[in-house]
Amino acid sequence: MIDLHVHTTESDGTFTPVAVIDAAQSLGVKVLAITDHDTFLGYDQASRHARAIRLHLVCGIELSTKLQGQSTHLLGYFPCPGATQSFRRWVLDLQRSRHERNIRLAEQLQKLGVPIKLSDLKANGVTGRPHFARRLVEIGFASNIQHAFDEYLAESGKAYVARDEPTLAEGLCRIRDAQGISSLAHPVRIKDDLALVLPELRDLGLDAIEAYHSDHSSEDTLWFLKLAADLRMLVTGGSDFHGANKPDVQLATGRNGNLWVPDIVLRWLTESERHLS
Ligand code: AMP
Ligand code: FE
Ligand code: FE
Ligand code: ZN
Repeated sequence: MIDLHVHTTESDGTFTPVAVIDAAQSLGVKVLAITDHDTFLGYDQASRHARAIRLHLVCGIELSTKLQGQSTHLLGYFPCPGATQSFRRWVLDLQRSRHERNIRLAEQLQKLGVPIKLSDLKANGVTGRPHFARRLVEIGFASNIQHAFDEYLAESGKAYVARDEPTLAEGLCRIRDAQGISSLAHPVRIKDDLALVLPELRDLGLDAIEAYHSDHSSEDTLWFLKLAADLRMLVTGGSDFHGANKPDVQLATGRNGNLWVPDIVLRWLTESERHLS
């Protein structure tokens, strides 16, 4: 089994990096990519443990980018020897812009009478809106995480604060410059007709689409596989495991076993022509 899309406590997952590796091993997962939002901290903490127990851990990241005004997640994979120092420096800049957004989001919530301070949020590495959502639930301002988003944190929510995010084109460029492989995360969330948009994204440097994902029906997956094949693009796949923050999604197997990522995906990733060139 392989799973190339996993979050840890260093972004908005609830399993520590080491716990994710142990959980993967006990499920029989052979290859795992940690793809935290805008940080390598989870991967960095897990890599030694993964080596010790001989689990193949791929260095990954999930970047929040904008495509024509819409929030679009972009996965970056750096199979070997990992991300470059200049890419890592760029990622630190992204974290600064997120931190500034978080300060303004806390202020906005306080203006609405919600007593939330950044220091109340239980976050290790990168703090995101899911941490705010958990806190809103804890202090009784929302009945569940989704309600917290709908009421306060989503783009249509009362406290929404926009963040300075890179464009998808910039993300693609940065990943390519760092010899990484890019993949469009959970393409089912793209609102535009992907058949029209994808050729442009490929021309901008997109290598792959995440055809296999817990949010995809089998029809979705078949459609994304066909789109990728028609454009001679790679495909990737993963659960988008977040632990208790997405309790219905299991590592490697997705929602009620709806996910199965074929081993060949890893070969494509690590032996892609561009990666070897
Ligand atoms: P951030 O990167 O801090 O802006 O937070 C983005 C994360 O919040 C996404 O990865 C999702 O996990 C979650 N999220 C964003 N919008 C929504 C929404 N409308 N409903 C539920 N979760 C959301
Ligand atoms: Fe997330
Ligand atoms: Fe995502
Ligand atoms: Zn994700």
